[in-house]
Amino acid sequence: MTQIMLRRNLSFFIILLALLLAITFPFSDDNQDIDEFFGLTMGTSYRFQVVGIPVELTRKVIAEEIEELLIDLDSGTFSTYVPESELSQLNRYDTNIPFEASSEIIEVLSLAQEVSALTNGAFDITVGPLVNLWGFGPDSEISRGNLPTNEVIEDTLEHVGYNYLLIDVARSQLKKNADIYVDLSGIAKGYAVDRVGTYFDSIGVENYFLEIGGELKMKGFKQGNENWIPAIETPLDTVPEIYAVINSGGKTIAVAGSGDYRNYFEENGERFSHEIDPRTGRPVKNGLAAVYVIDSSAARADALATAYMIMGLEEARALAESMDQAAYFIYRIGSGEFADHQSKAFNEYLDF
Ligand code: ADP
Ligand code: MG
Repeated sequence: MTQIMLRRNLSFFIILLALLLAITFPFSDDNQDIDEFFGLTMGTSYRFQVVGIPVELTRKVIAEEIEELLIDLDSGTFSTYVPESELSQLNRYDTNIPFEASSEIIEVLSLAQEVSALTNGAFDITVGPLVNLWGFGPDSEISRGNLPTNEVIEDTLEHVGYNYLLIDVARSQLKKNADIYVDLSGIAKGYAVDRVGTYFDSIGVENYFLEIGGELKMKGFKQGNENWIPAIETPLDTVPEIYAVINSGGKTIAVAGSGDYRNYFEENGERFSHEIDPRTGRPVKNGLAAVYVIDSSAARADALATAYMIMGLEEARALAESMDQAAYFIYRIGSGEFADHQSKAFNEYLDF
């Protein structure tokens, strides 16, 4: 739930910033209005701001089409909370028998596997049993304060490994060759943002700012030809405050963040976060507090942000530089004190 709070706070914050900027630039010569669509999906909130919806379409029709798309992606496809969702069916399905999968599932799982290979298994959608073991998933087995033993962790690790999932893209089939449990929390929201973006593109919208649970995609400009300017928050579990501001510069970009500063618990002064290293079976402790990734795909940005949190600053920045990717890292240098680092490609988005 704290995770949801984080995203809510972040979205309120972004909205606040948007309002603030609207007040700062009231003398716009462009009278196109901003249309907003908001609601709940994937255990969090969504907010889509759109400038210039086509005259032949009503707000009502657009709102209905968005809702339909999101219900389909959430309870129809990716939810692990809904027993009838396609993912829940896959998780219950027998091993070594082909599972006929939708193009959505194939697309997301293929991308997830790519990110797993790229990050040496730091990102792994079969991490679910470990997420539960540490008290962060839908079926949390331990009460916090009762940490899992090495033995239990070792046993659980036997069911974790992205290589246990085989994808046959041509046949649109999946096969599990071990009893694994797939958790798409680290990529599905990003994918949904991409899909909503594709929807708006398809109806001819040129300017939008889309947000689902803190994962963003923006295109064009806000009213008055201003750039979209999302904020990065200080990674503290208190009242949200701005740490830095990103300027889209009119480009179509997705921005995704991952952090350990809201969804965590403490035990004897030690911090345990919801970012779990699938290779050790334990929450990471590497000093990184938050990572933001800019990419053309929100799904990829979402997965990479989680992967970078797991990898830690040195390994993550080396990978980001090698791909010329825009990434922003905030790490702890003392209690409540932070330092940051950005990859070269991120410089063009920093608005100062
Ligand atoms: P948020 O869900 O707040 O956007 P992230 O994008 O970082 O945060 O996703 C974190 C979630 O992803 C965790 O709550 C967990 O369900 C899942 N997860 C944790 N560790 C990993 C990992 N190594 N690989 C893939 N998913 C992970
Ligand atoms: Mg993520």
